[in-house]
Amino acid sequence: MQSRVIPLPIVAIVGRPNVGKSTLFNRIVGRRTAIVEDRARTTRDRIYGEADWNGRRFIVVDTGGLEIHPGDPIEEKVQEQARLAIGEADLIVLVVDSITGLTPADLEAADLLRTAKAPVLVAANKSDNDKRELEAAEFYQLGWEETYAISAAHGRGVADLLDAIVWALPPESEQEIARKRRAAEADEWAKDMAAGRLSQILDGDDAAVELAAEGGSDLPIEFDDEDESVSIALVGRPNVGKSSLLNALLGEDRAIVSDIPGTTRDAIDTHLTWGRSEVVIIDTAGIRRPGKVAGGQAAERYSTLRALKAVERADVAVLVIDAFEGLTSQDAHVAGFVSEEGRGLVIALNKWDIVAEKTGRTFDEYVDAMRREVPFLDFAPFVSISAKTGQRVSRVLELAVDVWGERRKRIPTPELNRVIRSAGLRQAPPTGKLGPPKIFYATQVAVAPPTFIFFARHASQIHFSYKRFLENQIRSEFGFDGTPIRLFFRERASGRSAQGEERGRARSGTSRPRAGSSGAVGKSGRPATGQAAVKGSVRKGTSGSKRSTSGQRKPRTG
Ligand code: GDP
Ligand code: GDP
Repeated sequence: MQSRVIPLPIVAIVGRPNVGKSTLFNRIVGRRTAIVEDRARTTRDRIYGEADWNGRRFIVVDTGGLEIHPGDPIEEKVQEQARLAIGEADLIVLVVDSITGLTPADLEAADLLRTAKAPVLVAANKSDNDKRELEAAEFYQLGWEETYAISAAHGRGVADLLDAIVWALPPESEQEIARKRRAAEADEWAKDMAAGRLSQILDGDDAAVELAAEGGSDLPIEFDDEDESVSIALVGRPNVGKSSLLNALLGEDRAIVSDIPGTTRDAIDTHLTWGRSEVVIIDTAGIRRPGKVAGGQAAERYSTLRALKAVERADVAVLVIDAFEGLTSQDAHVAGFVSEEGRGLVIALNKWDIVAEKTGRTFDEYVDAMRREVPFLDFAPFVSISAKTGQRVSRVLELAVDVWGERRKRIPTPELNRVIRSAGLRQAPPTGKLGPPKIFYATQVAVAPPTFIFFARHASQIHFSYKRFLENQIRSEFGFDGTPIRLFFRERASGRSAQGEERGRARSGTSRPRAGSSGAVGKSGRPATGQAAVKGSVRKGTSGSKRSTSGQRKPRTG
């Protein structure tokens, strides 16, 4: 069951303000934006990123970016970060500053971090030269055997730190290994394609497209569908109504959640059936947890970090928003993460029952306003609900299951190319420095998220806005509602192989197959009817006290 959901380990960067946490974050995460989305603008201050070091993937969190009260005293900030990291991270990097030297805030953070089960690595940043590197020795006083003198700004020592991180992480899971294998296969295939070794599949001209359509040749990539369950993460700030929604989805307050003190790392998943779909709601313990741990801002930060973990394991994230309060920057962060991770996204505007003076336009106005605020949400469907009255709550599951199907949809290569070519006729890519780029053909190499490779001349010259245009064309033809899609552009010198030309000539004059999306089969057509039936299995920790149904929260202890 778990083979679909592949959590990556989380590395948290902790430390005082100005020690260089976000510089280190950026250096580790780098600019991994080969994808079409120009998210740089919206995620410039992003705090989550995926890293890959020697083939090992993990998530990096800049806990400094989670600060909500920038005015808090430094000690408090660092302690809060440390607590977050202790609760959720698989590895913690404590960053200190070689220029300023050891400070009381560093010592306090270190005291807290000593209680962490996860390994802690001390990085003495700003060790830009040999002299400072020597001076960094004073950080041994923090109590760890080894410290890493680095310069995040210049890159010095960062490779050694990354080696140490990868070494100290928990071992790679089977699923991580399988995912890597799939990615390698896709790469291999793309290389063959670029080298023209698979050029008989498609060559971008009418005749070849026809030929491929007739021959039905499709991708040699294996799409594995072994896991059919739809895993959903309910995310959102405290008090937006996640627990209420969960209960409403389960039909009543029979929450199957246990409260195991001190086991914040244990995720409890709830299984249910929805129509013919198996649905898993991920980390239902986390949904309830924030209220129990703390209230207010601290809970918010906590829930953000927890949500991140849940999203990593999910096919689809349902971002619950209080219709009254609207979208906050933390929501935008989580939504950005969902999109970067290629997960599906549904946005539920909860507490719709208390939105006053609704008219037929109210919902559209809300949606428009939010899309303006956070433009990268434009692929996600919205639904207005009331967890309290039960209004439209079943739509949430319905949409999530639909999005799940969209995320797994694959478009046959000939169909895709018909759309790409007619888009190209309507609007050719603007000429770059090297001359006019030309797209020869495209093909879908992966699902979940749907990933397309475009082979083109002057691929690097294709402007972002044109990529966006292509994405829109693909969406308007094939849907993909609620799922991010990825477009990669690879250089290919010529659009035609000799073989393609041969066949092209032989075929010229034949009638064209009809365009359309008839072959675009996904699983989005799953019937999604009926009341969700609770199966009631939980992954971990079935015992313990059940949450009181009054919605009251215990104050934080310890
Ligand atoms: P954060 O508040 O911990 O996230 O710190 P920032 O990453 O924003 O960095 C704070 C300041 O330290 C910035 O002015 C950086 O340019 C600077 N800085 C970061 N890394 C280094 C480094 O390796 N060497 C030096 N000399 N300065 C650095
Ligand atoms: P969570 O922290 O996101 O899990 O939020 P809860 O489910 O605990 O809900 C927070 C508060 O909002 C509770 O007092 C709920 O009764 C209330 N609430 C949740 N959903 C709705 C809704 O649809 N309408 C109204 N009016 N109140 C709601």
